[in-house]
Amino acid sequence: MSIIRDVLIWDSERQNAEAGDIVINDSGLVSEILPPKSAKGERLFDGGGYTAAIPGLVNSHTHVSMTLLRGLAEELPLMRWLQTKIFPVENRLLPQHIRSGGELALLEMISGGVTCFADMYYFMREVAAATVGAGMRAALCRGITGDDSKKLNENLALADEFNGRDGRIIVQLGPHAPYTVPRDAIEKIASIARDKKLGVHFHWLETEGELETFRDEYKISPSDYLEGTGLLAVPKLLLAHCVWHPVDELDRVKRDNVTLVHNPKSNLKLGSGYAPIKQMLEKGVNVALGTDGAASNNRLDVWDEMRTAALMHKGYHKDPTLLSARQVLKMATVAGASGMGFERVGLIKKGWHADLALVNIAGPAYVGADVTNLPEFLVYAGSSRDVRATIVGGKILYKDGRYLTMDRDEIISKTTEHRKQIVKT
Ligand SMILES: [Zn+2]
Repeated sequence: MSIIRDVLIWDSERQNAEAGDIVINDSGLVSEILPPKSAKGERLFDGGGYTAAIPGLVNSHTHVSMTLLRGLAEELPLMRWLQTKIFPVENRLLPQHIRSGGELALLEMISGGVTCFADMYYFMREVAAATVGAGMRAALCRGITGDDSKKLNENLALADEFNGRDGRIIVQLGPHAPYTVPRDAIEKIASIARDKKLGVHFHWLETEGELETFRDEYKISPSDYLEGTGLLAVPKLLLAHCVWHPVDELDRVKRDNVTLVHNPKSNLKLGSGYAPIKQMLEKGVNVALGTDGAASNNRLDVWDEMRTAALMHKGYHKDPTLLSARQVLKMATVAGASGMGFERVGLIKKGWHADLALVNIAGPAYVGADVTNLPEFLVYAGSSRDVRATIVGGKILYKDGRYLTMDRDEIISKTTEHRKQIVKT
């Protein structure tokens, strides 16, 4: 038993926050929540009455190793950005670059209270090993482009090696997007996903041009494509972006196994548009939140993503009641974790995994925060800099500026060297 003592607890099932002690059992699960300063046992963390405990944040769409490409190409439209700037450098990346870039991303996310992420890239054994080493939770896939059985086999080998590892790694299949993978290859991947009970992570209608291609070239509605390829029937489907998913087809993706991932800052930065999140939430579709890669955001900061999401739709629709702080916190916690297929992750309750972000609420921006308004303070006034500790499965990964599972200085010096290598060659 270990105790997180005297914290103000909030998750998306609670109306008001609750002062208490969180008791964690030896399996890393929350076993009890007791009145503040009453629990007996080893003290993992003392909140001192000025610390909020919220579920660990979940980044539901990213490409962690792209931290090495951060700042490499700015202010271009998606297709030009990808084809002239990103793909040529990606062709030069080696496994050691993927590893170090991934570790750099984990440093950034862990210090911001992120405990779980969904990632698509290549040389994914490196990302999986970095994730296991850091002690985070992740849903990982090998990004597949073209009708490429080598890439698909790498994805399947990743599943054989890592799926279910420590209860923290889920392996999904990763067809990149409708415009990079032919339809019959998508059908094959979806069929394998169903047979092997694997989820699928897919880029979906990020730009308006993709929607036009469905209309003008494929001559099929996007939802008919999702259904016809078999993607809608895979165990878990993560659809990243969905900026241009037709509003009148949201009923088709309102399914327990389908999650739409909102990436507001990447969509804004690449000029892709405003995803119809208002209508998705009204329809009851499961919506999660992601940063996308660091080359198109350029932060891996879920706090920043929450604040941007909460603000941008209010302005766009001229309606301040849209996307409440509580809704975006749900998107950034339990909605993402369940969308990836993690069970009992994303709430602070008995029997659920003790994945937590502990947040200092003693600073100037939190004067006035109380049990009734904590979520609004966190989203509108808080920031990732307020995170004091990040905990996954009852184990502390980060506390008061120190990493307990990673060597920060070594990772930064290694990635500095790697960055020079990839831009030079
Ligand atoms: Zn992406």
